[in-house]
Amino acid sequence: MKTPAYVWHNGRIKPFAEASVGVGAHALHYGSSVFEGERVYATPQGPMFFRLRDHTERLFHSARVYDLNVGYSADEIDQACAEVVLANKLGSAYLRPIVYRSGFTFSLAPPLETQVDVAVIAIEWGSMHGAAALEQGVDVCVSSWNRAAPNTYPSGAKAGGNYLNSQLIAREAVNGGFVEGIALAPGGLLSEGAGENLFIVRNGKIYTPPAGASILCGITRDTVMTLAQEMGYAVHEQPMPREMLYFADEVFMTGTAAELTPVRSVDRKPVGEGKPGPVTKALQRAFFGLFDGSTEDHWGWLTPVQAR
Ligand code: PMP
Repeated sequence: MKTPAYVWHNGRIKPFAEASVGVGAHALHYGSSVFEGERVYATPQGPMFFRLRDHTERLFHSARVYDLNVGYSADEIDQACAEVVLANKLGSAYLRPIVYRSGFTFSLAPPLETQVDVAVIAIEWGSMHGAAALEQGVDVCVSSWNRAAPNTYPSGAKAGGNYLNSQLIAREAVNGGFVEGIALAPGGLLSEGAGENLFIVRNGKIYTPPAGASILCGITRDTVMTLAQEMGYAVHEQPMPREMLYFADEVFMTGTAAELTPVRSVDRKPVGEGKPGPVTKALQRAFFGLFDGSTEDHWGWLTPVQAR
């Protein structure tokens, strides 16, 4: 990954190499960081954040779970995001705000005033699984690794430590020749991908696992559910067994990084006709239409990248 020229770190823009983390940082040892992934899209109206405030709010919610004091207001974090995009002169971007316990301590319950640092990284990044994946779909497997039980570490908080589980899921998939792994929840029902939410289309209806299935409630998931309902589809958040993947007419995954990626096979079994289906394609058109203006943004999801 190409490093950007500048990063926002603890209140100001600085050269990327100057924003460093110490070897004693609590977050490095124990995963005590929370972060976001969010995008700026190039639109006919110029570069626009997509659902910036929703991401910032989720960052604060995640921080609450681990008693991380962000030390900045939501407005200040939004502004930091704008500043780092502008500093790097990016017309479109993937942003990574991160709040992490940087102080040196081996305590598992460190004093709440132990230092917390905040950074926002912005890079140019196309879709996570590549442009061809968006068009042709990807081959996935069901992982032998489960998502974490809700009473272990919560999937709803987007914390660095959670991504050990995601790394196991993704690595196993890649080693097996797949693009991504779909994990089951502790009870054996469908959960989500290593870094994406999961959707199934069957008989014209759309299904996705519920919050209780150890998922991160994705902002792209919410976007797609909203667009689908507006287009007249019935959308059901419900627990589903693994075999629903094999009965599905269509399967797709959503995420800020993965955007809306069709799944063309699961465990080497083709999904439907083994290529993206009509519902997936219609939803992709609606989603990407938000950024070329062909889908009207009447939710106020797009906000311009501007300095205060
Ligand atoms: N689940 C996991 C585990 C993720 O890492 C992500 C990416 N943030 C998602 C789902 C999708 O979330 P969002 O649409 O908010 O990016």
